Amino acid sequence: MQELFDILREFRDSRGWRKYHTPKNLSVSISIEAAELLELFQWTTSVEDEMRVLGERGKEVEEEVADILIYTLFLCDVAGIDPLVAVKRKMEKNERKYPKDRVYEF
Ligand SMILES: [Mg+2]
Repeated sequence: MQELFDILREFRDSRGWRKYHTPKNLSVSISIEAAELLELFQWTTSVEDEMRVLGERGKEVEEEVADILIYTLFLCDVAGIDPLVAVKRKMEKNERKYPKDRVYEF
């Protein structure tokens, strides 16, 4: 994780982009990249369609997932959030909210 942060910071700072990385700008960017991911599945009407997109456009899906993660990690950096701690804490909360012995219907 530290190596990843080092790569991201070097990329950002060597281009003078740190000043643009405000919490709002990064949050907007995460949402835009999530929309780009969603666009790949636009007009699919079945799980089979979705799986076909994964097969035919898997590289594009990978790139959008990477974009989302990159902006999320940039936000973590400026907000002082440790992503591993944040995920662990949230999963502990989810464990309490959704006990494993309950039946869920969606
Ligand atoms: Mg993108």
